[in-house]
Amino acid sequence: MSHAPFDLVVVGSVALDDLDGPFGPRPDLLGGSASYFSTAASYLAPRPVRLVAVVGEDFPEEHVAFLDERGVNLAGLERAPGKTFRWKGRYSDDLASRTTLDTQLGVFAGFTPRLPDAWRDSELVFLGNIEPGLQRAVVEQMHRPRLVACDTMNFWIEGKPESVRQTLAKVDLLVINDEEARLLSGEHNLVKAAAAVRRLGPHGVVVKRGDSGALLFHEAGIFAAPAFPLEDVVDPTGAGDSFAGGFMGYLARAGELSPSTLRCAMIYGSVMASFCVEALSLGRLGRLTLAEITARYRAFHELTHFENVSL
Ligand code: AMP
Repeated sequence: MSHAPFDLVVVGSVALDDLDGPFGPRPDLLGGSASYFSTAASYLAPRPVRLVAVVGEDFPEEHVAFLDERGVNLAGLERAPGKTFRWKGRYSDDLASRTTLDTQLGVFAGFTPRLPDAWRDSELVFLGNIEPGLQRAVVEQMHRPRLVACDTMNFWIEGKPESVRQTLAKVDLLVINDEEARLLSGEHNLVKAAAAVRRLGPHGVVVKRGDSGALLFHEAGIFAAPAFPLEDVVDPTGAGDSFAGGFMGYLARAGELSPSTLRCAMIYGSVMASFCVEALSLGRLGRLTLAEITARYRAFHELTHFENVSL
């Protein structure tokens, strides 16, 4: 039986990133949690992804045009006087670790998200990595979403712990990386960390583990998705947001939230994250075909399929 698709709203950062690493210094790249998320989701969600964010006067028109061409609904993208959110990060030579050198909130500091009226009935909402009070302001404007998913990071867990907790109390699914899950829960073991996070509000937790894949902890048990074994990784920035975009974009397409749909969503998340890291910024993720996405989904199936034989 096929279901009517869900509408999907995302709030998060639309940013200018200054990156450094084995690829050399690369200033002024399009970045931000909502940019990666909406681009990844745009291939899977049947209806335009609804983006809520703010940019400054310095934000290049070509980046707006790029998101528009991806079919993202930009009715919730405000342009405000001041500077665009800017994040500076440096990767180690093996790309295994990254240091945040600077975070400038710019126009996000005075931002009040306002959801267009027609968006309040959206079934799915993703609270991308951004100040936790802004995340809550978006959920509070929604009528009765079927699933509220959320990401956050050490910057907010350490900087605004109480506000992060208040947001988590309103969230169904937390999508977070392993280090952040440990920081948030105070548990090193990821099974214990996920259980502790679930006690804070979310029924489900997805723990992203970089090139070790991702784990889904929810009522129906645990599901593991590998990361695609790639020969060349260029830039890991945005992999987590692309995972979330693939995951939520697939749920929007499926129009339901059964355990088996959540498993497929985990794989679509892994598919989109694998494309994201193959080029700098949105260089690869932004130029995909459905045939490439389908081929990689099949490759994941091949990679993980095994028979249920007993001895
Ligand atoms: P990821 O690699 O998935 O952690 O995502 C990196 C993206 O998150 C970059 O493009 C940054 O612009 C954005 N980012 C970094 N720090 C923050 C923050 N504190 N709040 C919102 N977005 C951020």
